[in-house]
Amino acid sequence: MSDGVFGRVALIGIGLIGSSLARVLRRDSPGTRIVACARRAETLATVRRFDLADEVTDDPAEAASGADLVVIATPLSAYAEIGRRIAPALKEGAILTDVGSVKQAVIRDLGPHVPPGVHFVPGHPVAGTEHSGPESGFAELFAGRWCILIPLPETASGAVSGVTKMWERAGMRVVTMSADHHDKVLAVTSHLPHLIAYTIVGTATDLEDSLKSEVIEFSASGFRDFTRIAASDPVMWRDVFLNNREAVLEILQRFNEDLTALQRAIRWGEGDKLQDLFTRTRAIRRSIIEAKQA
Ligand code: NAP
Repeated sequence: MSDGVFGRVALIGIGLIGSSLARVLRRDSPGTRIVACARRAETLATVRRFDLADEVTDDPAEAASGADLVVIATPLSAYAEIGRRIAPALKEGAILTDVGSVKQAVIRDLGPHVPPGVHFVPGHPVAGTEHSGPESGFAELFAGRWCILIPLPETASGAVSGVTKMWERAGMRVVTMSADHHDKVLAVTSHLPHLIAYTIVGTATDLEDSLKSEVIEFSASGFRDFTRIAASDPVMWRDVFLNNREAVLEILQRFNEDLTALQRAIRWGEGDKLQDLFTRTRAIRRSIIEAKQA
């Protein structure tokens, strides 16, 4: 366990993230037995077709039974029910982790179901694409990205280091932080940008027909990048906003104020204010490229 290699791993939810992890395990830990769980027969058939697991089931408890590591990788709204179902099946000493994009809600929904003797290590590999399902995963998804782990006061350090090493094997850099801090940071870096993209694409969709066709035609001028983000999974993102409500509303308030200031600068012809902001934002882009996160 301490080297991040587990004998039996249950992946509950095997879409983009779960299947990418399965591909990493297949590539690097041939001795690991993988059990995959999803609801739909179609999803389980795809898992078999790509040989992503040794066993498949639609029963989370069956998947969790006997597993050394259980990874929950479903949309957040499924967590509480999955927690309730797997609790009696988790073996003593097992590690329970997850990949959800919000962390306080995960601790709220899963925490009460974790039996004594099971190590709970909430986590979030900050890597993704706008695609979903087991067919869209790939082993290199995590390479060079950050993974955030949220050790709880009662979490054994050996369990945290086991999960850390697993993500490091996948090529990630691992940091720990509190759930509250995670949710604030991700509200700015991920949740707000998605909300803005959904809004812009929604606004364009509501335009009258003639204008709409030109929006699509000339999309390379900026709109196209927003459509990629706004193509992200609707259920996953519904759950993110419903489960990180406070942090998102707070940052949205700040964003609205800044937008109003920009609106004012445009109205009053204050070019220096616009240029000053655009110069600062350009520098941020450069620092992201330098940090190899572009
Ligand atoms: P996804 O591709 O849509 O896959 C979701 C998986 O969960 C599918 O296998 C689905 O199975 C299964 N599932 C849904 N409800 C279930 C239930 N009640 N019981 C068992 N399985 C269930 O989703 P994803 O993009 O991998 O996201 C999964 C998690 O990762 C989310 O919590 C998300 O916040 C987090 N995350 C996502 C990204 C990203 O960019 N996508 C990045 C980091 C973290 P069926 O096909 O049978 O419904």
